Amino acid sequence: MAERPVPRPGILEISPYIGGEAQIAGKEKPIRLASNESALGPSAKAIAAYKALAGEIHRYPEGGCVALRTALGKIHGIDPARIVCGAGSDELIGLLTRAYAGPGDEVIYGRHGFLMYPIAALSAGATPVAVPEKDLTFDVDATLKRVNAKTKIVFIANPNNPTGTYISRGELKRLHAGLPPAVLLVIDAAYAEFVSRNDYEPGIELVNESSNVAMTRTFSKIYALAALRLGWAFCSADVAGVLNRVRNPFNVSAAAQAAGLAALEDAAALGRAREHNDTWRPWLERELKSAGLELSPSVANFVLARFGPDSKGGDAKGADAALAFLQSRGIIARRMAAYGLPEYLRITIGTESEMRAVAAAVQEWTKAKRRAS
Ligand code: PMP
Repeated sequence: MAERPVPRPGILEISPYIGGEAQIAGKEKPIRLASNESALGPSAKAIAAYKALAGEIHRYPEGGCVALRTALGKIHGIDPARIVCGAGSDELIGLLTRAYAGPGDEVIYGRHGFLMYPIAALSAGATPVAVPEKDLTFDVDATLKRVNAKTKIVFIANPNNPTGTYISRGELKRLHAGLPPAVLLVIDAAYAEFVSRNDYEPGIELVNESSNVAMTRTFSKIYALAALRLGWAFCSADVAGVLNRVRNPFNVSAAAQAAGLAALEDAAALGRAREHNDTWRPWLERELKSAGLELSPSVANFVLARFGPDSKGGDAKGADAALAFLQSRGIIARRMAAYGLPEYLRITIGTESEMRAVAAAVQEWTKAKRRAS
């Protein structure tokens, strides 16, 4: 008999997810570029919808998110009955994993894929399996080779966080075609709205064509509603039925539903956010490259830049030191050691003045580093 309650196997193996820092001691308004949040903030209409709810917060939300699903269905040309909303896409990732994988099962993801996949797998008692990537990009062949009778779920973030890379529609189809029908393919398209490549497809086509695919999306990124926790999944009727069984009845707050609906209807705000990113990501990429940094080619609202080994890797002027230097200039970037990328920092695309401040600080840092070597 144990001396205290013992959680199920796997739980204590989880390294709890640590979000991006929000503060720097002694800096009143730091430049926060560690969580891939929106540069421009939410639609004014979403804020108004959120405020308008204040007098109604004694009411339970409408549990089926009907209005929001109907609007999503219209905008994306998909069946609202096969959409399930969640408290962020994180919740949906967790629910899908718990519903389809458990002890003895394997959950596959790309080596530098989003951290919630192994966390969700361990929390379900399943075994997370990290498949090596090629050039910091999801490797379809390596993944298909790793699939076996124990595989229950394959997760791909497309584009991926933190690498910013993506695989094409054709590669995604090839991945799906190579999977047994009993394996659930989860396409996490949290950054889909930022992508402007002709060969990109967020996963809607595959969900429409098959019964073993789920696509997850979020309102946290381009719609700038991260605080409200709102995401959605589009999946087969069977998978939607499963999600509707395992989710909490009121998993999405009324505020999130109302603001999400208003944000969705504000096409102009969406256009501005996209345009901003299309301007400032390439701008920052040029600046960082001209400072001598190597970048992973991003199609999302952040860049992954190689600053050199971290302090554990013996480089006193590597990624850790660069992170500290940026902090001294009031800028918060994201350390990447937890993703197996200790030489890198991830920087979110912020406002114009934030981007200019980052570029200037990085130039200063790389010059100092060159002088020191
Ligand atoms: N997927 C990816 C790839 C992400 O980067 C994030 C946010 N960091 C999420 C899912 C979760 O987003 P949310 O729970 O806010 O919808």
